[in-house]
Amino acid sequence: MTDIKSMTLACLQDEMERQGEKKFRAKQIYSWMHEKLAESFDEMTSLSKDLKSRLSRSYSLVNLTLVQVKVSGQDGTSKFLFRLPDGNVIESVLMRYHYGNSVCISSQAGCRMGCRFCASTLGGLERNLAPSEMLDQVYQIQKWSKERVHNVVVMGTGEPLDNYESLLTFIEILTGEGGLHISQRNITVSTCGIVPMIRKLADEKLQITLALSLHAATQEKRKSLMPIANKYSLEEVMDACRYYFEQTKRRITFEYSLVGGVNDSREDAEKLIRLIRPMNCHVNLIPVNPVKERAYVQSKRDMIMNFKNALEKSGINVSIRREMGRDIDGACGQLRKSYMDMEKGG
Ligand code: SAH
Repeated sequence: MTDIKSMTLACLQDEMERQGEKKFRAKQIYSWMHEKLAESFDEMTSLSKDLKSRLSRSYSLVNLTLVQVKVSGQDGTSKFLFRLPDGNVIESVLMRYHYGNSVCISSQAGCRMGCRFCASTLGGLERNLAPSEMLDQVYQIQKWSKERVHNVVVMGTGEPLDNYESLLTFIEILTGEGGLHISQRNITVSTCGIVPMIRKLADEKLQITLALSLHAATQEKRKSLMPIANKYSLEEVMDACRYYFEQTKRRITFEYSLVGGVNDSREDAEKLIRLIRPMNCHVNLIPVNPVKERAYVQSKRDMIMNFKNALEKSGINVSIRREMGRDIDGACGQLRKSYMDMEKGG
């Protein structure tokens, strides 16, 4: 059965026309799925009974099933565990900021990038998510919270640029008319640095924000934290980021997870400053979330503040990621992992 929720409006229009339906039918169906967030063809009351039953014979309407929600007592952040139609589980996060609600979604079940401090990659890659499965994380959370989602960050489990076509379809449906119509400027895609795909994304000339997981200012140190650095050098990654800026005029966000005693010294800060100061960028410092399978520890509070101050003094725009929901398996992939371990009886 065809996954109708993963179809762009243009695609659905072609499909309906081929079946002899009026063009506006496609728009109606599309709006039921992506604007009114219907979960079954039965809910689509403006369609004839006959059309509804034909649709349900040929198409599947992918909905995620909520398995678990954990609400942080600290800051109102909520973590969601969803079951996919094939039984895999994924996690998503709702963060409430003063400027609106932000949803962090997964782009893959598991991940094959192998970053040393990350829990999402421990079990390897299970599979790519379909656009419908990425969209439905946003839809389910909007319904659950009964509040509009303003921002979407593709920063959950998985490497979005390793699932490129689905990512683009997801962005088209999420930001286009007839759906939730979220502004492209309110979408952030985070990558560990797959250089040819960053360049390809730049050529799409979207207005989304690119977040690059940098985590170290030298090639050697980056290699010790992120296996992808063996494939693409720091220089190539930085060139690709400059290219992204040239093509889109969108300021790059650099993510830098501070790992105690590894990349958080005064010297590390100075190297980072030299590397990125000439660029129009923003730095997001993330105090590393310790993962029990890894030996890494968080930087001391004063090291974090010194690091931030050094960057700021050099005129670099910097923020520290609020440590959301540490009480609810806050680190990337930890909730999914603890659930899967439990299912295995581990
Ligand atoms: N694959 C993408 C997006 C997912 S990870 C990427 O690499 O960017 C989102 C961000 O969280 C990345 O910057 C990642 O390096 C970081 N991250 C993962 N695990 C972490 C942990 N335990 N502590 C702090 N940051 C972590």
